[in-house]
Amino acid sequence: RDNFSHSREVQLSDVFISVKTTKKFHTSRVNLLLETWVSIGREAVHFFTDANDSGLERKVMAGRLINTNCSARHARAALCCKMSLEFDRFLASKRKWFCHVDDDTYVNIPGLLRLLQQYNSNGDWYLGKPSLNHPLEIKDIETPNKKTAFWFATGGAGFCLSRGIALKMMPFTGGGKLKSICEKVRLPDDCSIGFIVYYYMNKELTVIPGFHSHLEGLWLIQPRDLENHITFSYARTGNTVNIVRVPGFPRDSDPTRFRSIHCHLYPNLPQCVKMKQ
Ligand code: UDP
Ligand code: MN
Repeated sequence: RDNFSHSREVQLSDVFISVKTTKKFHTSRVNLLLETWVSIGREAVHFFTDANDSGLERKVMAGRLINTNCSARHARAALCCKMSLEFDRFLASKRKWFCHVDDDTYVNIPGLLRLLQQYNSNGDWYLGKPSLNHPLEIKDIETPNKKTAFWFATGGAGFCLSRGIALKMMPFTGGGKLKSICEKVRLPDDCSIGFIVYYYMNKELTVIPGFHSHLEGLWLIQPRDLENHITFSYARTGNTVNIVRVPGFPRDSDPTRFRSIHCHLYPNLPQCVKMKQ
């Protein structure tokens, strides 16, 4: 029955979802996640942050809030430091899938499990969605007059790596090595992961259209089709908002639309009953 083993259902406990966050977003962003999708996906979720927070620790499952001691800056070194620890904790967890998301991401948990189900975690899989409409081009690290061009999955849309590929990436990514690669190619964490997959693994990104960052037009997602999408995000730049146009709670009580998305997916939850007409 060995050839059937990979078609076994993917469970929450097979997936390691790491949420990257930082002290200043514990209240404004992480609480919203805890009150929405994390309440469904709890068993899979680990938060990676840069400060101790006993209040948040009480709300998260024991040991699932990890203070990386990386610096609290939105800079390459700090972000690569966090990603490197996310990766190490995943490897240590023995789980089948590593999925990274930012703290402004909603994860449709049943949708994610259905997606992962379609791939063998022992194989080499890098699942995600680019935000650029062209491959990223950099100077080749060995022959500087040559170029290296590759697609990478935007961290803000979420991406997943199978255990199979992660184990092979370990010499380049594990034990803090990711930080040196980030410096070598001078790229942020998500681009550097894409670089390692392409350059050292000789593998390509598998594009998953249902992953969505706020770098794309979230208003284009059809509300009646929400359950077929896997991640959502939100953003505000000046007076313009980029959000999923889902009916539900009033805009002032749900500016990100995450509570409305959540109730769309789980209409029978107590907090959702009042939203139903
Ligand atoms: N972040 C971080 N340290 C910082 C700022 C941001 O770890 O100093 C994290 C943040 O929690 C989020 C991700 O980096 O998970 C992206 O940050 P944000 O959404 O603010 O910016 P974006 O890159 O999406 O514009
Ligand atoms: Mn963001």
